[in-house]
Amino acid sequence: MIQPRDNDDTSFPEPEDVFSDERFMEEALRQARKAGAKEEVPVGAVIVREGQVIARAHNQVELLKDATAHAEMIALTQAQEAVGDWRLTDCTLYVTKEPCPMCAGAIVHTRLRRVVYGVVDPKAGALGGAFNLLDVKGLNHTCLVTPGFRSEESLALLRQFFRERRG
Ligand SMILES: [Zn+2]
Repeated sequence: MIQPRDNDDTSFPEPEDVFSDERFMEEALRQARKAGAKEEVPVGAVIVREGQVIARAHNQVELLKDATAHAEMIALTQAQEAVGDWRLTDCTLYVTKEPCPMCAGAIVHTRLRRVVYGVVDPKAGALGGAFNLLDVKGLNHTCLVTPGFRSEESLALLRQFFRERRG
């Protein structure tokens, strides 16, 4: 059963997060592998609410011919549908690569509680890699960020993908 939860609770991370991170990032990695198998840049994302996965997606830029079809964007849309609200204040996003500026903007707009991401992107990452969008005071959003979680596996997928494309 899903337990009701006080939306004003800002005391995070909660103890269960630590145990769940491995499991949910594993799901995100599975999504990333799916993308890679379809010739998409291998990035996967899942969104979790009250211990339940409510959205899972992978990058679909090539399939949809849509440069905004990043795994995070698709997962956020799914999560908003599942919750029935654009506010995702009690949700956590697991994504295999650091969000880009567009996705970080969407994270702010949906008021996500927490983001756990894999490989850091020092060139274009917007949650600490290249810069941190959350540092912009005017955006008025706090979000707990756990960077570099199981980054070796995420990076290995990306490296393999680009190596095969070059070959
Ligand atoms: Zn993105």
